[in-house]
Amino acid sequence: MHLSRYFLPTLKETPKEAEIVSHRYMLRAGMMKQTSAGIYAWLPLGLRVLRKIEQIVRDEQNASGAHEVLMPTIQPADLWRESDRYDAYGEEMLRIRDRHDREMLFGPTNEEMITDIFRAHIKSYKDLPQNLYHIQWKFRDEVRPRFGVMRGREFLMKDNYSFDLDYDSALISYQKMFLAYLRTFARMGLKTVPSRAETGPIGGDLSHEFVLLTDNGESDVYLDNQWMNIDISAPGVSYDDHNQLNEFFDNMTAIYGTTDDMHDPETCPVDQAELITTRGIEVGHIFYFGTKYSQAMGAQVQDKDGQLVPVHMGSYGIGVSRLVGAIIEAFHDDKGIQWPTEVAPFDVGIINLKPGHQGCDDHALDIYAAFEKQNMECLYDDRDIRAGNKFADMDLIGLPWQIILGPKGIEKAMVEVKNRHSGETVELSVQDAISHIVSHCGQTGKYQHLKSA
Ligand code: ATP
Ligand code: MG
Repeated sequence: MHLSRYFLPTLKETPKEAEIVSHRYMLRAGMMKQTSAGIYAWLPLGLRVLRKIEQIVRDEQNASGAHEVLMPTIQPADLWRESDRYDAYGEEMLRIRDRHDREMLFGPTNEEMITDIFRAHIKSYKDLPQNLYHIQWKFRDEVRPRFGVMRGREFLMKDNYSFDLDYDSALISYQKMFLAYLRTFARMGLKTVPSRAETGPIGGDLSHEFVLLTDNGESDVYLDNQWMNIDISAPGVSYDDHNQLNEFFDNMTAIYGTTDDMHDPETCPVDQAELITTRGIEVGHIFYFGTKYSQAMGAQVQDKDGQLVPVHMGSYGIGVSRLVGAIIEAFHDDKGIQWPTEVAPFDVGIINLKPGHQGCDDHALDIYAAFEKQNMECLYDDRDIRAGNKFADMDLIGLPWQIILGPKGIEKAMVEVKNRHSGETVELSVQDAISHIVSHCGQTGKYQHLKSA
């Protein structure tokens, strides 16, 4: 992408309304624009990040055996009357009437709708288990939308729903999601801690929150230092091996899930010497809630004996748009964002210090073409503006690598390579600069936010 032709409305001043760093940087980096309280338009740079996060979530859901669907944002009120949640949901629900005076709502979540889809089509235990997900906009009329996309009113969520014949099988579905979540976040360069959670208004028996550790999250977190040394992506564990899955889940929850309240230092059962105090942001939440909805809504299947039984369900959410802000909270410095490679809007930024200078232009375009050939995404700053502004913008938008070229260096075919995470710069020949970045791409940013924890 050539920056002179791109839509990247960066801001020099810090917007007054933004209280936290991710909100400030998202506005300043031209990633999004607020259109109403808690509602945002995604601009090109922000949308690129949102889509990358979405794709990682999708890949890992597919790998776990879940199937993607897409349910509408608008739902009929009557479905929610069946589960008795229409009134109970309260003021967070946006209620709408259509021209025929039918009561509708903008979905805050989809348990009712998915249960309705399920009961229309699945009638036998032979068709179980099922796990369906979608990635769709939700609306919750939060009392205090704040922190930009972290607590919005309209936000993008991945939610899925599992259906099983009995508790044992539902537990396997739950454990698969538990693992899929850890893998999903690990792929974004994030270490999250599953903490046993209150089941809350959704009700149910088993629930974990996935908390991203950052210095300035919404809540305090106390946890065991051991946590830092574990590979949470569990590379050896297969979704199809239930014993392995179960063992992994038991180990994880035995060490960490007993911290029933890891938000309270008094109840956190960790040796003082090993205790780490940090802050956290909830990026995912999983629930097993048994037959609550299936019973209320008549989602039954025939079991082996021909008896009709209500299915056991779970629901699982990831805050896809919240993650954009959460990742910035974990990866930034005082100059701007430091994207982990996996979710960066572009892999490399090229800064041409003298557009119009033949040597600089030619080399910049050659470098650009070389990265494209490697399937790497480049943002080329070819704008005719002051060098200082280019440096500031490039640091602000936080691409993992920068190549800086000017007339002096180019005479000797030399350029500067900067790693946005470490801040290190090296002077290299054009060829070495390209191979340096190609060979190190993917190695920046992993778990970096944990070092300060
Ligand atoms: P919270 O306690 O933060 O309000 P929740 O328990 O209401 O979250 P869930 O209903 O479990 O959230 O939704 C699943 C995920 O969706 C959450 O883990 C979070 O990442 C995200 N999420 C929830 N509410 C919002 C919001 N208002 N803005 C952005 N993301 C949200
Ligand atoms: Mg909430």
